[in-house]
Amino acid sequence: MSSSDFGAKVWYNGELVPWENATVHVSAHALHYGSSVFEGIRAYATPPGPAVFRLDEHVERLFNSAKIFRIEVPYTFAEVRQAILDTIKANGHQSCYIRPLIFRGTGALGVEGRGCSVDTIIFTLEWGAYLGPEAIEQGVDVGVSSWRRMAPDTFPAMGKIGGQYVNSQFAKMEAVDNGYVENVVLDVNGYVSEGSGENLFLVSKGVVYTTPLWGSILQGITRQSAIQIAQDLGYEVREQTISREWLYIADELFFTGTAAEVTPIRSVDRIPVGRGSRGPVTAAIQKRFFEITSGEIEDTRGWLTVVE
Ligand code: PMP
Repeated sequence: MSSSDFGAKVWYNGELVPWENATVHVSAHALHYGSSVFEGIRAYATPPGPAVFRLDEHVERLFNSAKIFRIEVPYTFAEVRQAILDTIKANGHQSCYIRPLIFRGTGALGVEGRGCSVDTIIFTLEWGAYLGPEAIEQGVDVGVSSWRRMAPDTFPAMGKIGGQYVNSQFAKMEAVDNGYVENVVLDVNGYVSEGSGENLFLVSKGVVYTTPLWGSILQGITRQSAIQIAQDLGYEVREQTISREWLYIADELFFTGTAAEVTPIRSVDRIPVGRGSRGPVTAAIQKRFFEITSGEIEDTRGWLTVVE
């Protein structure tokens, strides 16, 4: 990623401003305490033009994160939705990653930030495969983090809240330092939660498993899409607690996420998963996912919003 990959215009509190002017004050509350909520969204190149994947679900999650965190969003659902489309259009992307962020700005330095301004920004970025260009076909090598996901009474995992990503950063830095692309993080009970920025799926004897919502996971929109795709393809899907050692003996593992899309995992803690390469169930789910996002097959569920 370089600065030239970012869209030239940033939507900032209702206006499209040049990239260089989209700055914040050093006293901004979010900078000190992580008091922000955000989304990661992708738009894909399709025959009728760039199309946003599951736009309404992302905007809904953004508003839910704000509600959990007691941030009053100064815009309506429809305004934020339109602003996302306007930003993509203004930046002329065929495909891109979109980052809406609502944060507590200036006004107070105490930890209680509700007296601060609430600022809203949206920027775009041309971003390829998050876990590396070969990851989609060849899979990634991952470890199990020594850091745990938050216990349910410490941070609200369902909210996509800025400060919570400090936990993700610890997990990701540890992964990189150990020579892995990503780490799987266990929950407070020692069961598999998710990656630092991805949900996790396991395939065993033809059945597809994924960590349930009570496993301190973010309620991933790609996760939910992969569950529906797997069911459409005729697989049984079970939301079930996954133990660490089950990762080692699974037939297949894969991550889902807006940035990671559907990425196979080929080893965990240096133990090969299955044959150590992308498995057939992962490949089938991946194929359908990319057929939908590329507009190759009919969008029967209305998952794509074309940027007019
Ligand atoms: N878990 C975490 C911690 C994440 O940051 C993300 C990325 N938003 C996901 C899971 C995947 O969610 P989604 O498919 O909605 O991008």
